Amino acid sequence: MRYVTADRIFSGKEYLPKNTVLAITNEGVLTDLISEENSANSNIERLNGIICPGFINTHCHLELSHLKGIIKQHTGIVDFGLSVIKHRNDQSPEEQIEAMLHADAEMQKQGIVAVGDISNTSASIAAKKKSDLYYHTFVELIALNPERSEIVFEEGKQLESEFKSNNLSASLAPHAPYSASLKLIEQLSNHCYSTKQPTSIHNQESKAENDFFINKTGNYLRLYETLNIAISYFKPTQKSSLQSVINAFNIAVNTLMVHNTFTNKEDLQVAQSFHKQLYWCLCPKANLFIENLLPDIQLMISNNCKLTFGTDSLASNTGLSIIDEINTIVKKNPEVSFELLLKAATYDGAEFLGIEDQFGSLLKNRKCGINLIEENSGNYTIKKLA
Ligand SMILES: [Zn+2]
Repeated sequence: MRYVTADRIFSGKEYLPKNTVLAITNEGVLTDLISEENSANSNIERLNGIICPGFINTHCHLELSHLKGIIKQHTGIVDFGLSVIKHRNDQSPEEQIEAMLHADAEMQKQGIVAVGDISNTSASIAAKKKSDLYYHTFVELIALNPERSEIVFEEGKQLESEFKSNNLSASLAPHAPYSASLKLIEQLSNHCYSTKQPTSIHNQESKAENDFFINKTGNYLRLYETLNIAISYFKPTQKSSLQSVINAFNIAVNTLMVHNTFTNKEDLQVAQSFHKQLYWCLCPKANLFIENLLPDIQLMISNNCKLTFGTDSLASNTGLSIIDEINTIVKKNPEVSFELLLKAATYDGAEFLGIEDQFGSLLKNRKCGINLIEENSGNYTIKKLA
């Protein structure tokens, strides 16, 4: 048994009183939180930094791990997407699994305990089954053409049950507003309601996405032309992508908006007033990698958006570390409350995934993961305590 305390202790929701001592077993189970005065133990380790629960990575694509260092930075989303399609199968299935195991080990080293992971195939099942991390898989569905929604939905449900039959948590998720019809979004989010599982969508990662919806112009026309996909049936809506699709979501399903780089105040207000179970995922390092821009975090905070963090994949990031994502936000927005960012990285992510009874706070008799955050000249690093 270890007894530890630090300069500050963050519960997942707030800072706990000073001199709170954590009792942690050798297996990493937190058995007690006591005040130092009430502790009979004299072997208390005093650490410099902030103790917090294990991190929740709400947006990753484990199956793209083999694309680390392959895709060029700052090309914009359309060329990024085309490059992923081009290189996705350059390596053998064995090499791809090897890369996933590496990525999984990196996340564990970085103090991550649970992951919301986007999957298009069953390729990640082997790595997820071996892992000590908790994975929730979002089986990602793509079909802008409403006529294809039925078949894509059925295929998605099959893949979802493949994950579930391997004892892995799973649900369905539309890829993005520009690649999923309203019919498909409605169908799959109602399915999530019946299975009591969350869903997720890439949202407004580029300006082109809004151009496509407002007047059917911009870079996505080039994407569909290059991929030889007819989009004659698609009618512009004169509204942003988010405002065009938000009504198709089931409002009783935890729903994650990922990226939000081009989301404005009106978008936030329209979406938040319609849907009370929205969460907004920050993937700042991937945003800098692809578009070289960051979302307006102050705007999201002032509109009471519940934030979470995601690393996105190794195709669009140099590492899989929540503390590095936090560093990126802090450097560009030093005025943002660190406590709020820690809550996004722990409790709010766990609540979104519906695993707040297991992870995201310092929970007694749980193996919730325990990190020590240390600061060196404005840069935060972590040490895993359990
Ligand atoms: Zn993504």
